[in-house]
Order: sequence, then C-alpha cells, then structure tokens
Amino acid sequence: MPELPEVETERGRLAARIEGRRISVARIDDPRLTRPEEPEWVAARLSGERVEAVERRGKYLVVRLGENENDSQYESENDSQSQVLLVHLRMTGGFRYAPASHERAVLELDDGTRIAYRDLRRFGTWLLLDPEEAEEHLGIRLGPEPLGRRFTTAYLAGRLARRKAPVKAAILDQRVVAGVGNIYADEALFAAKIHPAAPAGRLSRARIARLHAAVVAALEAGIEAQGASIRDFRTPDGGYGSAQERFLVYGRGGEPCAVCGTVLRRTVIAQRGTVYCPHCQRY
Ligand SMILES: [Zn+2]
Repeated sequence: MPELPEVETERGRLAARIEGRRISVARIDDPRLTRPEEPEWVAARLSGERVEAVERRGKYLVVRLGENENDSQYESENDSQSQVLLVHLRMTGGFRYAPASHERAVLELDDGTRIAYRDLRRFGTWLLLDPEEAEEHLGIRLGPEPLGRRFTTAYLAGRLARRKAPVKAAILDQRVVAGVGNIYADEALFAAKIHPAAPAGRLSRARIARLHAAVVAALEAGIEAQGASIRDFRTPDGGYGSAQERFLVYGRGGEPCAVCGTVLRRTVIAQRGTVYCPHCQRY
C-alpha cells in the first residue's frame, strides 16, 4: 500500500498538472470507487470545477475544488461550490498521465491534459464532500502529520503511554500518527533499535525520542527518493521512485542485517508481515 512518501509523490505529480486548471469532463467507470454515491453523480459534480489545490493528509490526497466558473456568473458568493475530493489509493490506486491499464476514472482538463486514475485491485476510494465534512472525516481518522510541528517526542510519548499493544501496532495506528504504514514502520523501528513487538507503553523516553526521530527520518528519506517501487504497487505504466533501494529490513527477511550480520527474522505483528533484526532490535 502506498504510504506517506508514495502519496506525497503522487500529490506533487498531480498538483503540477491540475492545480489552477478546470476539469472539463470527469468520467468515473467504477461504482466501487465512489460508493455509496453513484459514480455519475460524483462525475457530474467534478465536471466544470476548478482545482484550487492538491494537498495531502496522511495517506489521503485532498483535492480542493473551487467555485464552478460557469455558475459563478449567475450566483452570489454565498452559493460557493467549494468541494473537497478525498482520494485514498489503498493498495494499487494511482494517477497516470498516459493511457493505462485498469483505468477506473478519467479527468480531462481545460488545457487538454488527460489524467487517468488506475486501480488494479479496486480498493481505492473517491469521496466528494463539503470542506467541513472533509475536515471532520479526516479529523476523526488521523492523528498529526509526522512531518508537522504537532508530532513531537512528547506527543508520541503521551500516545504510547499505557498502551500494551506492540509498538509497531501503535505507530501503524493512523490516529497516533498519520501516514506511516508497514514499510516505514519496519524501517523506523530498525533505525531506532526497538523490537517491533515491544509493548508500546514500556518504552523509555529516550527510546521514544529515537523512534520519533527515526519515523521522521524514514519518511523524509522516502519522500526524497520519490517513494518506493515495490511488488504491491509497481506497475508497467508508472510507479514511484527508488526508496526500496535504501530499505534495511523491509522485504529483506532471511538476509543478513546490514549492521551486525545476524539473519533478519520475519514474523507477523498487528496482522502485518514484519522484518526485524533479533540482535539489534531489543524489547
Ligand atoms: Zn542487526
């Protein structure tokens, strides 16, 4: 599943093409994408809209749509058409700028650009909401941005305190910190030398400080590399960058640890495949 660095990479590419442009025609072919709303209803409300900004919150793309230009001549400012399209790519969703396989939706822009949304496994979602609804939708699901000012060691310590769950489960919880998934959780825990099954509430403040720094560093490195192109979301017609080349544990079960040479162990924590070094990473 694309995590924060991959979604940030998508955001940048999409923003460069769509910000400030108007969607002349939207077509949505897959009812799963927009449910419970009908795809035709969402497509009709996207068509004619001007895209003000493409932002990211956790693993969501937040597409801010402004007033409908055709309507604005006839309506007062009180009838603002502001809407927000929340896109979650889930497993295999992504935007493509050339015809792609498994296209589920297409946006045609006023400058002739054609943007396809492709999704092999069809778990992605497009949710069209009022700005207030979007804020609420994200607010109840997401904790602070890991690269923002609210995500501090003190904050993280507060969220981990008294939690008996494995620390990996805690940092995968999007309400603790938004945007961390399986890859960057494993990498951050390895860098912080913390066993992924260690009970979250038992970590010392010093180790939480290391974990905080490691989460930030892992995500920043992922963004710098334009995300990771790995099995789940590498595609013949697109994809992300080279972050996978720098992974020290993710996908490397059975290989020697880059630090100590011990064979990296594979296990399941929080229902997710997990790789760690049994020597370097301690409870
Ligand atoms: Zn090691």
